Amino acid sequence: MKNFSYVRPSSLEKAIAESIGDRQAMFIAGGTNLVDRMKGFLDQPSLTIDLSGLAMNQIETTPDGGLKIGALVTNTDLANNVTVKSDYPILARAILAGASQQIRNMATVGGNIMQRTRCPYYYDTAFACNKREPNTACPAATGINRIHAILGASDSCVAVNPSDMSVALAALGATVEVRGEKGDRLIPFTDFHRLPGNTPDRDTNLEPGELITAVILPPLSFAKSGVYLKLRDRASYAFAIVSVAAALELSGEKITDARLALGGVAHKPWRAEAAEEFLSGKVADPSTFSAAAEIALQDAKPLAHNEFKVELSKRSIRRALAVSAKGGGIG
Ligand code: SF4
Repeated sequence: MKNFSYVRPSSLEKAIAESIGDRQAMFIAGGTNLVDRMKGFLDQPSLTIDLSGLAMNQIETTPDGGLKIGALVTNTDLANNVTVKSDYPILARAILAGASQQIRNMATVGGNIMQRTRCPYYYDTAFACNKREPNTACPAATGINRIHAILGASDSCVAVNPSDMSVALAALGATVEVRGEKGDRLIPFTDFHRLPGNTPDRDTNLEPGELITAVILPPLSFAKSGVYLKLRDRASYAFAIVSVAAALELSGEKITDARLALGGVAHKPWRAEAAEEFLSGKVADPSTFSAAAEIALQDAKPLAHNEFKVELSKRSIRRALAVSAKGGGIG
């Protein structure tokens, strides 16, 4: 780890000013991903700006009946929040499917959203990597790419986003509240993370000096039917090979609204909007779920070692939708 300076500002304004004043500075909260990256020389900030002293750890009901979650709320506190468990169980299940209890005790909402890929080539500085150093190479594209992307990848990068929580937030239609030197702005969750294109070094659409202050969930009555299905190589403490967040609103046997997002398949949490549109108005039965799964994966471009992810994703979608139609669960 390279030597670095450390500050713990007492206000958001001071934190942003510290960041603007040193473009090699990085924000730190729980540190569960950043410290690992610093130890591995993947990130070498000159300054770490500790956000833990800021008042961003509240979970509040919004006037329209949604929920505003401070960026410093820990994953444990969010998963155990009474309102989250009752009204957005899909979110609680996704969080509890990720990491260990000890990591969830430290990890924050903002940090979870900002965590970087677990592509093994990215973590091994013996390899070139366009995400670490732009315009070098992507050894995963032609190397061992079993865990990599099947949707939205580019020649520059085939990495996947590792966050379980972010898949649920994408399905729930969350909004990210950020603050920078120009003030506050709101970013729809599906626009927060980027596809790799030619700039895989940029994971998000945050501008320099901006930081996440909160995540806002809209009211969504049928979120109670939410399902988070995570497929992984071992039963615990592993990142998703494929995951599905799904929720259906039914009127009798007919689907009146649907939410569907995938994890472990793309550089960002993958909201399957075309499949959602298809589901609306259809009868909730296996043939409908199969057709929706085909639509969700119609643009899949598997790599040499991850063709299996296409079929695994389809089967996972079918199962998640079937469970949601029966009232939810899993996770
Ligand atoms: Fe680097 Fe992305 Fe290629 Fe992995 S997939 S080696 S993170 S450029």
